Amino acid sequence: MSTSLSSEQLTEIAREYGTPVYVYDAEKITFQYHSLTHEFHDQPARFFYACKALTNVHILKHIYSLGASFDCSSINEVKIARYAGIPADKILYTSNSISFSEIEEAQAEGVHINIDSLSNLDKFGRKYKNTYPVGIRLRPNIMAGGNLNISTGHDKSKFGIPINKIDEILAVVHKHKMDIAVLHIHTGSEISDVDLYMKGVDILLELAEKFPTVHTLDLGGGFKVPYKDGDSHTDISLLASAIKKAFAKAKAQTGREYNIWFEPGKFMVSECGYLIASVTVLKETSATTFAGVDTGFNHLIRPMFYGAYHRIENLSNPQGETRKYSVVGNVCETDTFAWERDVAEIKEGDLLVFRNAGAYGMEMASNFNSRFRPAEVMVKDGQPQLIRRRETFDDLLRNQII
Ligand SMILES: *Cc1c(COP(=O)(O)O)cnc(C)c1O
Repeated sequence: MSTSLSSEQLTEIAREYGTPVYVYDAEKITFQYHSLTHEFHDQPARFFYACKALTNVHILKHIYSLGASFDCSSINEVKIARYAGIPADKILYTSNSISFSEIEEAQAEGVHINIDSLSNLDKFGRKYKNTYPVGIRLRPNIMAGGNLNISTGHDKSKFGIPINKIDEILAVVHKHKMDIAVLHIHTGSEISDVDLYMKGVDILLELAEKFPTVHTLDLGGGFKVPYKDGDSHTDISLLASAIKKAFAKAKAQTGREYNIWFEPGKFMVSECGYLIASVTVLKETSATTFAGVDTGFNHLIRPMFYGAYHRIENLSNPQGETRKYSVVGNVCETDTFAWERDVAEIKEGDLLVFRNAGAYGMEMASNFNSRFRPAEVMVKDGQPQLIRRRETFDDLLRNQII
């Protein structure tokens, strides 16, 4: 059974903690995690939550308690995960465009590492030889994912080492006698097409034959969740059976068996999250009726950055007749959450909720316009708990030399 927080519960939280406020439903995260692990229970599969989606330490601890591992995109994420009490062998650092010194730091932490450039691979080999098993992030030339911004596998993408450089990769590996444990791909976010996903998997299985030390194939993240009714999403059950088939076939042909790693970000935390805002002004124009709210792309950038759709509901008038509103933020820039959207009739002071706000919401928030970043509340076992206080004026000045 899926879960979601009730309008009453969200309204109560907004009253207690003020708006704008991010609210996360721990139970929904649990549900998402189990729906993944369930499909792969008979496989040597591990799930590394891609924590750049949402790094609040309470969320990390909750996800760790479920048995997950963690994928990190920066050395600071590695440190936050360590701070949350996650052991090094449950942390993976998948790097891109980083200096070698960060990789050295990750090595010193003892975490798994995927390297994504030939130059860093060469530096790593020269320094650590075969003493530290390491992964290689490859970039298959396939176009997958919702759009160019979030697709990472195509030819114009900066991510990974292009697979047409395979001879150079092998030369580096042989020169330093490296212990390559993992081959990795992450072909993009919002991949709902299982066939496309499997293209990447097949390429990886084929390339793995060139690496006798490889025991794990890391298939990345990018599972799509629905944002609105009738939206496509990744069929995990279908994906699982396709992956099992492909790995079984590879075993029959080559005798090799691989561990399977995944790095779900959005799938784990998108739907658990709610951003609640108050309506500050209603403004009629000849084009539309604006509903201005006390938040903006400084707190939820996805609509403006990716053209993302977030469901918007009026918590204060859930049964009201719907009318068309253009819901806009309070930042001094064009800042549109939704244009001419059906929302139950809005009055100034009403509470609106943006759904699917768990992934890449608070995590991409900024202080643009010198506004405070929102508070965060986690609901676990029915109990709301403040897990990040709202910023205050001191936070804006904290690092300025005055
Ligand atoms: C961002 C990222 C993910 C997670 O992507 P989602 O679309 O949130 O699932 C997984 N792996 C890597 C390397 C990433 O950079």
